Amino acid sequence: MLTVADAVLKSTDYLRKKGIESPRLDAELLLGGILACDRMRLYMEWQKPLTDLEVAAYRDFIKRRGAENEPVARILGKRAFYKRDFEVTPDTFVPRPETEGVVERALMLLAKEPVLQHPRQNIFEVGTGTGCISISIALEADGHHFIATDVSPGALATARKNARKHGVEARIDFRQGSVFAGYEGSLALVVSNPPYIRADEIPTLPPEVRSWDPHAALDGGRDGLDVVRTMAADGVRLLIPGGWMVFELGEAQPHTAADLFRDAGGAYDEFHVEKDLAGLDRYLMVRRSA
Ligand code: SAM
Ligand code: GLN
Repeated sequence: MLTVADAVLKSTDYLRKKGIESPRLDAELLLGGILACDRMRLYMEWQKPLTDLEVAAYRDFIKRRGAENEPVARILGKRAFYKRDFEVTPDTFVPRPETEGVVERALMLLAKEPVLQHPRQNIFEVGTGTGCISISIALEADGHHFIATDVSPGALATARKNARKHGVEARIDFRQGSVFAGYEGSLALVVSNPPYIRADEIPTLPPEVRSWDPHAALDGGRDGLDVVRTMAADGVRLLIPGGWMVFELGEAQPHTAADLFRDAGGAYDEFHVEKDLAGLDRYLMVRRSA
């Protein structure tokens, strides 16, 4: 007979030996997934015996995590982001905590920038993945209309499902295509966590990322800034005067990326680089000249 305590402790040991970074947390999250309960409940039922079916299902999860480095979010099929859960599939990038900083900055701009005060603005997201950024902003900021693109039809199917689950499907137009996907309207705000890894850096990423996140979600080309370069060029035409773009980028990239916007012949006139919670330069905010 195996109790919750036995299962968690044994699995933690196994995951630690396999070199998993947070073995105890992962063991608890995965058992919570099997028992459909949160970690607090696990502690309340610490001495409760597991059924044979639960043990078999848990063994499978732990093996996937330890032997194949499959991320917890992929095993559970969901990930918490900002205030809600988002479905994750093999076609989608797993939302990361630092990306919540994009949502926070977009909401800050929507709250205080004069040109974003009009009730019905167009907000565009490039590379929406699970849809987590657009859906989270839409749920906090009423009245705006969203367009979100991705090159991956599989990711868009999941993003649509997440939008439906959170009740904002009527406000987000999901479109398949590259970057702005031929859109020719006017935009007040553009948000993006684009693929920004340098192509030659991908093999050096942790296995959870390099083997499990879709390649298209990571590969930003030779210097990691291919998508950003296109956005800087197209933004000149699409952004309204005083409109903004907000990016998540990789370490040190926000400065290089800001130069791409500075080189656009005065089309952009404000550039802010901001740090994430780990103290790394992570976000870039640029304003279309008024
Ligand atoms: N926005 C999601 C998030 O933050 O969790 C996903 C971000 S993921 C790092 C980048 C996404 O951009 C992937 O879903 C990928 O398929 C998509 N993508 C890659 N190249 C693209 C392009 N040229 N145009 C539009 N989307 C692209
Ligand atoms: N943050 C991702 C990582 O952990 C990279 C995401 C991206 O390219 N946007 O490597």
